[in-house]
Amino acid sequence: MTDLLALSLVEARDGLRAKQFSAVELTQAYLDAMARHRNWNAYITETPDKALAMAEAADVRLAAGNPGPMEGLPIGMKDLFCTEGVRTTAASHILEGFHPPYESTVSKRLWEAGAVCLGKTNLDEFAMGSSNITSYHGAVTNPWTKPGGNEKPLVPGGSSGGSAAAIAGRLCIAATGTDTGGSIRQPAAFSGICGIKPTYGRCSRFGIVAFASSLDQAGAMARKVGDCAVMLGAMAGFDPHDSTSADRPVPDFEAACQRSVKGLKIGIPKEYRLDGMNAAVEAAWQQGIAWLEAAGAEMVDVSLPHTRYALPTYYIIAPAEASSNLARYDGMRYGLRVPGKNLVETYERTRGQGFGAEVQRRILIGTYVLSAGYYDAYYLKAQKVRRLIADDFHQAFQKVDLILTPTAPSAAFREGEKMDDPVAMYLNDVFTVPSSLAGLPAMSVPTGLDRQGLPLGLQLIGRPWDEETVLAGSAALEKAAGFDVTPYGLEG
Ligand code: GLN
Repeated sequence: MTDLLALSLVEARDGLRAKQFSAVELTQAYLDAMARHRNWNAYITETPDKALAMAEAADVRLAAGNPGPMEGLPIGMKDLFCTEGVRTTAASHILEGFHPPYESTVSKRLWEAGAVCLGKTNLDEFAMGSSNITSYHGAVTNPWTKPGGNEKPLVPGGSSGGSAAAIAGRLCIAATGTDTGGSIRQPAAFSGICGIKPTYGRCSRFGIVAFASSLDQAGAMARKVGDCAVMLGAMAGFDPHDSTSADRPVPDFEAACQRSVKGLKIGIPKEYRLDGMNAAVEAAWQQGIAWLEAAGAEMVDVSLPHTRYALPTYYIIAPAEASSNLARYDGMRYGLRVPGKNLVETYERTRGQGFGAEVQRRILIGTYVLSAGYYDAYYLKAQKVRRLIADDFHQAFQKVDLILTPTAPSAAFREGEKMDDPVAMYLNDVFTVPSSLAGLPAMSVPTGLDRQGLPLGLQLIGRPWDEETVLAGSAALEKAAGFDVTPYGLEG
């Protein structure tokens, strides 16, 4: 009997089509695993009945010989995507009881492609964070946490921490993520899985709870590069409901994973070599360079001179947009209402009790940088710097096809760490934020373990709309790394 949970998405897809097992069997295996590992808190909402009904329908289509690209594959849906009739929380108290009357475009496309919904995965509240600790529904445990130790659990990274933990812990075959400043890539690196954030505009944002609209992008997370490619292909494409969605054909991402990297030029940006950089991260980066060279790529030194302004720029623009987007949670339209003696007091109580501390901090920063007296000094300045950062990449991509960097400055940290120091927390995003500001596609691939035995990831950044080269490079890294270690939480 095949170990169904050991299969990659591509293997499971092929196995389903070859009738080696059914979608119901595969789905049941995941539902059982979810029940065994509720302690990781990877899901906010499980949807077992829906999953089995969808799996049965998938089996019918498989039997009829017309399966969709994701037919019968059980996935987790980040709880930031609106799912019709299924509780959607954004991991916030303020959305208490919200059951969307409509489906997000990305989730709709995945269901139409045949995917099976196992449930809604945990995240940082409104996708603000790098640890998944700010969730109103509680922190997520990284399955790489060694069982039985006295230390606090490791975080899975964030904000798509529930998706990352669910994939690493074999509680779904793949999952959606969203990435505003690193929320697909950093948790992928912390959890030893792959994650791709496509070019801004590749996937529709319609029906995704908005955080920072000029940065938010949906993407795919899974154990293998090829799995992400298949899933992204099903998610992507033009949507008239999102004015920033691009009317471009969706390439064959799976085929792109087979492309050779021979002759590709890969940029190594000197500004990403930080003072006092974590030695294991630096070593992983060097190893990645050597692997890609051995595969026939040529390394080229590049400079992205405005890199050091990326983090402060992001932490002005993202909160500014968030403060505007989150104005809609007023206790009137949906979710929580904490009544006061008049309208203003109702607003204050609802927002005061409905939003967690990190979300409130961002709203305060955002309204401050947008206020009449500070708009020019902060928000407008940040917009100008954002352009310079995008121009840096544009210049570099005249010379190179891809840029290789570490994904995160460290491996997973423990719950409780960095919690009293927001700036230390924000530093997690140092390598992921610049490409977000520039709207570029970027992918994280697990490349090995550090001395403590925790996974590290490398990031490849590509030209706008060139996910194909990003996937080809990532597949080459994956092949060289041969990363295939079972998380400690799954042993024994
Ligand atoms: N960690 C970053 C933040 O807190 C990125 C979050 C994200 O990409 N959604 O804003």
